[in-house]
Amino acid sequence: MSTYEKLLQNNNTWASKKLQADPGYFERLSHLQTPEFLWIGCSDSRVPANEITGTQPGEIFVHRNIANLVIHTDVNLLSVLEYAVSHLKVKHVIVCGHYGCGGIKAAMTNRDFKQVLNMWLRNIKDVYRLHREELETITDEQKREDRLTELNVREQVLHLAKTSIIQRAWKNEQRPQLHGWVYGLKDGLIKPVFEMGHNAHIDPFYKYDDL
Ligand SMILES: [Zn+2]
Repeated sequence: MSTYEKLLQNNNTWASKKLQADPGYFERLSHLQTPEFLWIGCSDSRVPANEITGTQPGEIFVHRNIANLVIHTDVNLLSVLEYAVSHLKVKHVIVCGHYGCGGIKAAMTNRDFKQVLNMWLRNIKDVYRLHREELETITDEQKREDRLTELNVREQVLHLAKTSIIQRAWKNEQRPQLHGWVYGLKDGLIKPVFEMGHNAHIDPFYKYDDL
């Protein structure tokens, strides 16, 4: 059996087990999606949102890209954010990075990864530049990379706060709470590093006053 066929077989077994435990499981889920959380994570195969948070299908709305970036011109991310915040009315938006992230590592080198990846990684280089002073006091390379991972998550949360989507929901409904987390590949533990709620201070330059 080839590897992809194994996936289909696993799926069959999984669906039967779910039905055995709860005959109405899929019928119920097919009618309603009311997740409380939006997860913006890294595409890395080792960081599956549901598995590491002990949640089930239906509980987390998920968007993933390389190095969990929130880019204000990314129509894909903004569509997910708009739908999750304005329609699903999620209470929390979580940006979850992870130590040992290939995107962060790549951005810290001077290698040419060809244009499309160079363009994506540029966003991480910009985070480095913003925090260069702090980062360059760290002599241990691994620790500097870990710190950039944390700062990157923090910057992405700040990017969320700059969107009119979040600002409008904060003004009208005092939600969602924004969270920046970093997952450890080596111990499986999530470390919260940053948080913002509807009362949070944001740079006035980015604030919309006619929402
Ligand atoms: Zn990653």
